[in-house]
Amino acid sequence: NSIVAIVGRPNVGKSTFFNRLIQRREAIVDAVSGVTRDRHYGKSDWNGREFSLIDTGGYVKGSDDVFEAEIDKQVVLAIEEADAIIFMVNVEDGVTGMDEDVARLLRKVTKPVFLVVNKVDNGKREEDAVEFYNLGLGDYFTIASINGSGTGDLLDALVKALPEVEPRDEEEEILPRFAVVGRPNAGKSSFINALIGKDRYIVTDIAGTTRDSIDTKYNRFGFDFNLVDTAGIRKKSKVKEDLEFYSVMRSVRAIEHSDVCLIVVDANRGFDGQVQNIFWLAERNRKGIVILVNKWDLVEKDHKTTNEVEKYIRSQMEPFTDVPIVFISALTKQRIYKAIETAVEVYKNRSKKIKTSVLNDTMLPIIENYPPPAYKGKFVKIKYIMQLPTPQPQFAFFCNLPQYVRDPYKRFLENKLREIFDFNGVPVSVYMRKK
Ligand code: GDP
Repeated sequence: NSIVAIVGRPNVGKSTFFNRLIQRREAIVDAVSGVTRDRHYGKSDWNGREFSLIDTGGYVKGSDDVFEAEIDKQVVLAIEEADAIIFMVNVEDGVTGMDEDVARLLRKVTKPVFLVVNKVDNGKREEDAVEFYNLGLGDYFTIASINGSGTGDLLDALVKALPEVEPRDEEEEILPRFAVVGRPNAGKSSFINALIGKDRYIVTDIAGTTRDSIDTKYNRFGFDFNLVDTAGIRKKSKVKEDLEFYSVMRSVRAIEHSDVCLIVVDANRGFDGQVQNIFWLAERNRKGIVILVNKWDLVEKDHKTTNEVEKYIRSQMEPFTDVPIVFISALTKQRIYKAIETAVEVYKNRSKKIKTSVLNDTMLPIIENYPPPAYKGKFVKIKYIMQLPTPQPQFAFFCNLPQYVRDPYKRFLENKLREIFDFNGVPVSVYMRKK
């Protein structure tokens, strides 16, 4: 899956554009999961081509008076991590000094860059836009993100420029892919080093372009798995790691390429906003999740501490709390084997296929006892249930009036599926379908 980053000064219209692109899909995703979305990361598609979109500006606090340097850092990161860059400027303001700075960074880039002049909603402004040729980025696109005009041409060009999706080879497909993600300094590299030693267990480095070679195969503990490379493994550049945007940008690709995300949390910092962002990123991509509370050696504890910390973390994960939490120390290697074992279990849970007969024999009696509550005077009759043939668990409940089943009841069904079939660590999707 390709990643497109939107860069530019504050208030040029990046988030309006971003929202327009992800809106249609997000509405559907939110309705299913019932989860509030990260306003700066989402998926979009055009002409059948899916891509992830990141609004970099969204990660700058107090966007109105950001320092130029901050934006430059984001652009540098976007250049490193994204597959294509949309550079948005505002025709009303003309070319500003900050635009010139960003353009200077972008001119050196070999990745596709799209200069997009926003708020062009009449012929006069179309003429004004010519000034942006001076940025030295070649052709530009004019759009009005408020009503969407011009976006079609831009998206045509954008998806054409995205790298081809390479088909995975068959053997790789069946290996679990684990991504070790988390905030900077949570201990990701330490964990990986503790686990695999000084690269002694690397079997192959799957060749490819720099961008694509993010899987490394390991065999340890009697089975093979791929570790999906993240910031922790290759510290390429030392651009500001304290940016919230940094961990998101660095995590997105690893998460999207993985089956299970091992989210490393620094026990001293807790399950803060940045970690939650990463957590929901994994959840919304329907990946398996294991929480690793690292640096446990540093925590002063009594017999209640583990329970208390666990309870607190779970309260932050609502409503998706059925996730394993392992307390580890990358330093002393405490429970690092347990961490991988748990990831393998989650991987198995995620790959689980429940036979239709078993599914119906167990779930239909439950539904009989607790039918969907009547909604607007309508009674819903669920006839049968099927698991969809997708990599992650998705269940279709066939019924007469799918639109009358509310989210709480879907959540009830999801929880029953979890109780009975054990989907610990795995997002489960429940759909109502017309019989
Ligand atoms: P990364 O940015 O997530 O890859 O984090 P690093 O692996 O570079 O770790 C950041 C810092 O935390 C380093 O100074 C590590 O030595 C330290 N650290 C990592 N794991 C542990 C741990 O389990 N216990 C203690 N005490 N320190 C740790």
